[in-house]
Amino acid sequence: MIQGVNSVPAFDIKQQYLAIESKISRAVLEVLSSGRYIGGPGVEGFEQQFAAYHGVNECVACNSGTDALYLSLRALDIGAGDEVITTPFSFFATTEVISAVGAIPVFVDIDPTTFNLDVSKVSAAITKKTKAIMPVHLFGLPVDMTALMEIAHSHNLAVIEDCAQATGASWEGQKVGSIGNIGCFSFYPTKNLGGCGDGGAITTNDREIADKIRLLKEHGSKTRYIHEEVGVNSRLDALQAAILEVKLPYLDIWNEQRQKIAAYYYQHLGQISGITPPQELLGGIGVWNQYTIRVSSQERNGASSKYRDWVRTALQERGVSTMVYYPVPLHLQPVYQCLGYECGKLPVSEAACHQVISLPMFPELTQEQQDRVIYSLKDCLS
Ligand SMILES: *Cc1c(COP(=O)(O)O)cnc(C)c1O
Repeated sequence: MIQGVNSVPAFDIKQQYLAIESKISRAVLEVLSSGRYIGGPGVEGFEQQFAAYHGVNECVACNSGTDALYLSLRALDIGAGDEVITTPFSFFATTEVISAVGAIPVFVDIDPTTFNLDVSKVSAAITKKTKAIMPVHLFGLPVDMTALMEIAHSHNLAVIEDCAQATGASWEGQKVGSIGNIGCFSFYPTKNLGGCGDGGAITTNDREIADKIRLLKEHGSKTRYIHEEVGVNSRLDALQAAILEVKLPYLDIWNEQRQKIAAYYYQHLGQISGITPPQELLGGIGVWNQYTIRVSSQERNGASSKYRDWVRTALQERGVSTMVYYPVPLHLQPVYQCLGYECGKLPVSEAACHQVISLPMFPELTQEQQDRVIYSLKDCLS
């Protein structure tokens, strides 16, 4: 096992903090000495900047990306008996919130090169009960929003974009999160814009939706101790807002660094047999929260993750840490057995779960580290 200075971690969020340490410290100390820890001008200031960055009228900050999704469904009055179309290849939070409001997730298979919802299969899944489509810009790569919005408009469905992994990505010149009815963002530390704790936000051009979410995230109350709805407590605290406000101006620079690394990986891994690198759709500019390849071998294919796990171990032995996003598709999760999806129903997603490896990807990844990842992959596959 090679370790130490030469090893390459899957991610390293401390480096980003160290690069802007003095600015963050100053912002944090200001909040601490202000005595305003919940709400206040700092949170509102960040909301305005985040809205401006996305070219939308409204931003509401909240406690997490999960809450952003949950509050969006609640604001659209989606609940018991309603269906929401989404992808089975995402983090559990995407569908957890659909179930939490009492609605039913309806899974549509993914596109094999982008890992995103296969938009051409969405129409066939629409029923009288369908209320919304929830696309996920997975790994930071935008969904074909032009085609998706066309379907949504023709069936009068709402679109909630899960942008948790895609802050800063765009589709045909528009930032993701500004195209559907609502955009949902996460500031979990490993996301493209990450805080030092939990955080999230919604973006929208619809004032009514924004106001409803403002109400719901504060116990359904506009006037203190007068409650119009059963809501939740989901506020972004002033410390996180201050840290995120320091970080937002760097987001484009960090995303460009991710794009350069993705291009370099593609240049060197694109030609290797047994590796399928991820590819963006024409029209999309991705921000590469993850760089996720597929590995397969002619002798060792089939519905098993054994070969993928072997490659990961071989990489680890060469000092390269990797991750698996995601090992089990959502429709086959134990909790969704009740929905009745059988193994084989959504084959592209199921195969992806057996084949994916997410390579080291973060803005500060050095040239030497990138070369080591490439060299190690070539070495263990040869
Ligand atoms: C991280 C993530 C979420 C949830 O965000 P949290 O801030 O951790 O609650 C939702 N959807 C996707 C696709 C994510 O990656």
